[in-house]
Amino acid sequence: MRRWNGWGDDSIETSLPPRAIELLGTLVGLATPPQDASLEAVVGAVPGSRVAADPRLETDPLDRVRHARGQSLPDWIALRSGRLGAVPDAVTRPPDAAAVAELFALAARSGAALIPYGGGTSVVGGVTVRPSDRPVITVDLARTAGLHALDERSGLATFGAGTLGPDLEAALEPHGLLLGHYPQSFEASTVGGWVATRSAGQQSRGFGRIEALFAGGHLETPRGALELPCFPASAAGPDLREVVLGSEGRLGILTEVTVRAGVRPRQERFPAYLVPDWDRALELARGLARSGLPLSMIRVSTPLETATTFALAGDARLTGLLRRYLALRGMGPDRCLVIVGLTGHPAVVSSTARAVDDLVRGSRGIAGPGIGAAWRRDRFAAPYLRNALWDAGYAVDTLETATDWTRLPDLASDLGRTLRHGLETSGERVHAFSHLSHAYPSGSSLYTTYVFRLADDPDATLERWRTLKSAASRVIVDHGGTISHQHGVGVDHAPYLAAEKGSLGMDAIAGLIRTFDPDSLMAHGVLLEDGAP
Ligand SMILES: Cc1cc2nc3c(=O)[nH]c(=O)nc-3n(C[C@H](O)[C@H](O)[C@H](O)COP(=O)(O)OP(=O)(O)OC[C@H]3O[C@@H](n4cnc5c(N)ncnc54)[C@H](O)[C@@H]3O)c2cc1C
Repeated sequence: MRRWNGWGDDSIETSLPPRAIELLGTLVGLATPPQDASLEAVVGAVPGSRVAADPRLETDPLDRVRHARGQSLPDWIALRSGRLGAVPDAVTRPPDAAAVAELFALAARSGAALIPYGGGTSVVGGVTVRPSDRPVITVDLARTAGLHALDERSGLATFGAGTLGPDLEAALEPHGLLLGHYPQSFEASTVGGWVATRSAGQQSRGFGRIEALFAGGHLETPRGALELPCFPASAAGPDLREVVLGSEGRLGILTEVTVRAGVRPRQERFPAYLVPDWDRALELARGLARSGLPLSMIRVSTPLETATTFALAGDARLTGLLRRYLALRGMGPDRCLVIVGLTGHPAVVSSTARAVDDLVRGSRGIAGPGIGAAWRRDRFAAPYLRNALWDAGYAVDTLETATDWTRLPDLASDLGRTLRHGLETSGERVHAFSHLSHAYPSGSSLYTTYVFRLADDPDATLERWRTLKSAASRVIVDHGGTISHQHGVGVDHAPYLAAEKGSLGMDAIAGLIRTFDPDSLMAHGVLLEDGAP
């Protein structure tokens, strides 16, 4: 069962290694475990629903609580404190496009606003219900899930939009196919959500971002159906798939998504390396990204992230040995961890590995034994640490952006500095560290994690987050970075969208929304600031 107020499956408990607690105590101060609200108390406080009884609408308070929020830090603060602010008036689970079309008619009649809900893993307020004069109905796509059609010869697989990552890959596997889209939220996010947010999987260099994997599908809009046919390529005017990608539920509801699945790769390895410092690590990443080598992933950590990764690794004896080995090999405290993905035909994997080794040696780097295998094992486990950190009294959030190689070094250092000093006026310290998560020939994404202490009062914790988030977003925009490389816009990034789209661009987006949704049935406050229901 999914945790109602945290990350992941509630049968999986993760604890922090004692050394991690010690480190956090030193870096940001000792923390006090918070008093969280109980599910019973939160459910008991749910107000009555404002929708008229209808067999399609579930008004059970527990169901409404479970759909009120996503996974952003403000969502966590609301859920853990029990101060939800608003919950949907009803939850509905349409099985197909025809049922979605009926929902639009119902919403138009009743003046309700609709929020599409895939896996609810949005970290930018994408599924968060906001207080509104209109009733709000959350549309959970779970009942559409499953493989609906497969053209094995072409590798085109049509899934219901509510299909979760693991179920999608499980349906492809018997056919020797693989999509290879692995956002860290893989276990709980859906193919419809990936398209709606333009998500990026950890191995997007090899398999492609969702833009490349999304072949077509069915978007049910308040104005009718928009069919997106699956051509291998087309020059027939503007590509309407691009309009749907990143539309975040503002144009309608995706009910089916056709993806381009590939042949399952025969071999996969994740070798890891250490290079002596950040300047060399950046140059290595740039060199690898521009080399033309078929790498499925390039992941490069700053010295602070590298040190934090070692501290969080559970086995103190092994990491101690590794540290001594690295010191003997000349890797001091500024060392940076580099992990690459090698995926494909064994012959290509071997030759690519040799070419990577050459480039790493040129950066005075060395192999980091065992680290790549550990990364692979834990690649979807890290988010569970959020639960353990919260229980220990620490809030953790992430930020991401992308920019060109020229601007990246200044953006990275300014962002880290801004976050680390961001709460100084309130006497609090922040631990912030980054890695390049997706490297491209012209630039890279930068993914930053920051940790700070929870305040005694949830509103004060929220204020700490607001201070840090707005300062960091300002730095990103001022340095010419995109406000989101992968998480989308949602509510939290909406104020910064105009900085990269321009006023004509914002008009064009608003015009698209008016075309598909003239009566604002899908206005749930995301993408455009004035779009609140
Ligand atoms: C721990 C963690 C790790 C993450 N790692 C990554 C990562 O590596 N890469 C990455 O890209 N993202 C990542 N994310 C962010 C998030 O998982 C992605 O944005 C994901 O694509 C959301 O999918 P979902 O099904 O959960 O969508 P939801 O959160 O349910 O919805 C997201 C938005 O899309 C809309 N929407 C959802 N389904 C539909 C539909 N069928 N039709 C129309 N609109 C729809 C919603 O209204 C909302 O605005 C992570 C999040 C968490 C919590």
